[in-house]
Amino acid sequence: NWEYAPAPESRAIANLKPNYQMFVDGQFVDGGGEPLKSINPATEEVLAEVATANAEDVDRAVKAARRAYDKVWGKMPGAERAKYIFRIARMIAERSRELAVLESLDNGKPIKESRDSDVPIAAAHFFYHAGWADKLDYAGYGPDPKPLGVAGQVIPWNFPLLMAAWKLAPALACGNTVVLKPAETTPLTALVLAEIIRDADLPPGVVNILPGAGDVGATLTTHPGIDKVAFTGSTEVGKLIQRSLAGTGRKLTLELGGKAANIVFDDAPLDQAVEGIVNGIFFNQGHVCCAGSRLLVQESVADEVLEKLRHRVSTLRVGDPLDKNTDVGAINSAEQLAKIRELSASGEEEGAERWTSPCPLPDKGFFFAPTVFSQVSQSMRIAREEIFGPVLSVLTFRTPDEAVAKANNTPYGLSAGIWTDKGSRILWMANKMRAGVVWANTFNRFDPTAPFGGYQESGFGREGGRAGLEAYLDV
Ligand code: NAD
Repeated sequence: NWEYAPAPESRAIANLKPNYQMFVDGQFVDGGGEPLKSINPATEEVLAEVATANAEDVDRAVKAARRAYDKVWGKMPGAERAKYIFRIARMIAERSRELAVLESLDNGKPIKESRDSDVPIAAAHFFYHAGWADKLDYAGYGPDPKPLGVAGQVIPWNFPLLMAAWKLAPALACGNTVVLKPAETTPLTALVLAEIIRDADLPPGVVNILPGAGDVGATLTTHPGIDKVAFTGSTEVGKLIQRSLAGTGRKLTLELGGKAANIVFDDAPLDQAVEGIVNGIFFNQGHVCCAGSRLLVQESVADEVLEKLRHRVSTLRVGDPLDKNTDVGAINSAEQLAKIRELSASGEEEGAERWTSPCPLPDKGFFFAPTVFSQVSQSMRIAREEIFGPVLSVLTFRTPDEAVAKANNTPYGLSAGIWTDKGSRILWMANKMRAGVVWANTFNRFDPTAPFGGYQESGFGREGGRAGLEAYLDV
């Protein structure tokens, strides 16, 4: 074990401030709620104090968004909206270093991921949707598709900036205004995005960002002034929101949890598959809704794959999120760490074989060593429940039909991966998977042009691509 202390200059690069205000009607203001402390999960130190909203603040923000919608944004020609959205995209790219370091400080993810994935994909999302803003008319939606009005959006902590981009970019491109609530453990990059939105001269009220806990989310999603609710988070809270909106006729999209199968056939290039398995479950500490958390490996190659996998996982470096060579950073919160520990303990109790990476962990901070469970059966909790951490459950199969049956044996259905040399098998399997995204010979690839979303208890609605626009238009 060792002590980890972040380099002092990282705070300066991240432009970290002791206090952050919320963003309402074009202004940074204090909130009526109790300020929250955002902590660095790698050191457990307080990074900043952040204003939170109360019910009156939510009401004020929704009214500001309504005014902005009625007076400006909802009437603005798409070509005009595009200019603002392109500007936001460029400004994210210009401030990418600051955003990447701040994201790694606040979330705990490795800098190489925030630098190479979160921030560039967030910018790409704004670029892509800016391009749609002036092409919605006659794009197959009739001559004049209408925005929905004011969107209330709630996002989780695993990709704080990227989830904000996924929510804001399509809403704005289609002419909606927004009140967005970031997650309570990771509000900082959303508030820098608010600065960018202000500096891009968006009319006041078009975007409002209100930090706070779940109660603020509930006040926002049930506010009568909201026309559309978009939520990404746990299946449990998604169901609560769905119930709370029953009978209101309000539009809703839900992006919820997952328990994806990553399926390896015996004809797959196994070294490449092992890289994909590692990326599938250890990317972002496994805090990924579409994480490949169930490895289904064909029996004839199971021992070989497991051996290669353990060897490869032993080489992953766990620790300092700001070190460019770190592969696995900090777990986002003490609560999440406790949940991962509890589920892992259940795996042992239910008889699975636990293997843990020998990588030393820092003394302080929320860290969890990459873990692989073999001898897992479908009835075990670690095979059924979303762990949302760096824990892989390995199951085996003999035939393609058995692989399909096991992969689909879940209440979720967000994503799946298939590793095989046979193109025909990829197509056959992809058709049988009850999952919104199916990757073949790759995993965790994201692109703004590709619709993303779930089946069953992983939610409904799509984000990204043309399908994602339909969630923000009256067609
Ligand atoms: P969570 O559901 O606890 O919280 C998500 C957000 O909802 C937070 O901002 C929280 O403050 C807010 N919230 C909590 N209670 C609420 C309520 N009653 N009404 C309205 N808002 C409320 O989830 P989490 O722990 O932050 O995130 C992890 C979960 O998110 C995982 O299950 C993961 O699979 C899922 N997720 C899904 C996707 C996807 O695209 N499908 C993406 C990322 C995360």
